[in-house]
Amino acid sequence: MSRIETPRPIRGTQDMLGEQAQRFGHVVDTFDRVRRLYGFGRVEVPVIEPTAVFARSLGETTDVVSKEMYSFEDRGGESVTLRPEFTAGISRAFLTEGWQQHAPLKVVTHGPLFRYERPQKGRYRQFHQLDAEVIGAAEPLADIELLCFADQLLRELGIENGVTLTLNTLGDAETREAWRAALIAHFSANRDQLSQESIDRLEKNPLRILDSKDPRDRPIADAAPEIDAFLSADAGRFFEAVTTGLDSAHVRWTRNARLVRGLDYYRHTAFEFVTDRLGAQGTVLGGGRYDGLIEALGGPATPAVGWAAGIERLAMLIDLPEPESITAMIIPMGAAAEPAATDLLARLRRAGVAADMSYKGNMKKRMHKADQSGARFAVIIGDDEIARDEFALKDLANQTQQWVSRARLIEILRG
Ligand code: ATP
Ligand code: MG
Repeated sequence: MSRIETPRPIRGTQDMLGEQAQRFGHVVDTFDRVRRLYGFGRVEVPVIEPTAVFARSLGETTDVVSKEMYSFEDRGGESVTLRPEFTAGISRAFLTEGWQQHAPLKVVTHGPLFRYERPQKGRYRQFHQLDAEVIGAAEPLADIELLCFADQLLRELGIENGVTLTLNTLGDAETREAWRAALIAHFSANRDQLSQESIDRLEKNPLRILDSKDPRDRPIADAAPEIDAFLSADAGRFFEAVTTGLDSAHVRWTRNARLVRGLDYYRHTAFEFVTDRLGAQGTVLGGGRYDGLIEALGGPATPAVGWAAGIERLAMLIDLPEPESITAMIIPMGAAAEPAATDLLARLRRAGVAADMSYKGNMKKRMHKADQSGARFAVIIGDDEIARDEFALKDLANQTQQWVSRARLIEILRG
């Protein structure tokens, strides 16, 4: 007899059930609650975009574009890419859908993203992010609001302890040019001590050498000139406004003058919330101001700021949420009781009572399932119950049982 082999899942993807799925759901639910407190609306954008959307906005020299994208030709010969991040797609939509009229646009989304990376704990090829953006606001108040939102989200997830907000400025265009030239000079002078990867980056993207994880690069990167010496007066004032705002809102932060974002379009504020509880995958949330991106996509100069957080990484850090449970388990005994059970179950659910039916196996098995479900009550329906037109309501917490009419039953279970 030939056996059919079940296809294996794709490397770096995950299937979730039980605890893992509950953790994931709790992160998303909390995000949805907190974003309402901040007046952020929901947007949905496609999982798939023309490759140019990411190549243009992220820059060809970034790891994401040069090594990690899932790009392929579709059947029409078009180069398409599974989104590796949200910002580029939302910015594309901002332009093509005429969302400019809503500026400043405060929006969130969440969903799957794809990067061809080496899978390990906290790093997957299909992963998920929470994402928040403010598009069309040049004011530091937008940066402050987003940072407060991120901070409150982490608090409400109960993971603020051990997670630190690290903050930097990347300055304005003028600052960045001057700093970039100084970095190229510094790295060129120490070229023979750098890793090959950093040598390759030297001319195109010298900022990236600063956050290199290669131990060969660290001494040179650590000795590199800091941005502060090059900050223009405008850029200095902007950073000052952001940090003062965070202090006013009681959001704790620390300066990390080495923090740069991997993507080319960042200006001014750059930040990461980091933890040492996830090994090498220590960044749970990162973002910053990306004033240059929308222009890179062919739109008008549009200031914007945003952040993204890895749902899987947050889910690993939170305490296990309260297990989900139902209020009542309906137990029909015998085929004759099933229509009555189906009728009652429909009435309960329509009345807003979480309920389920245990219909497999003998009575003992059915009661066991009721106990396992975490239900507070079991409702037993057999010949007696049908004859009396009443239900046996069993309180599973204290093992008491009473006869009740249907109206009374629904009243009790609605609580
Ligand atoms: P890292 O340095 O960990 O590769 P990154 O700089 O590539 O992160 P961003 O592009 O800023 O990350 O994405 C924001 C967040 O998304 C990260 O802080 C992280 O929580 C999450 N993230 C990024 N890549 C992955 C991945 N492959 N698997 C799981 N989560 C990820
Ligand atoms: Mg990465």
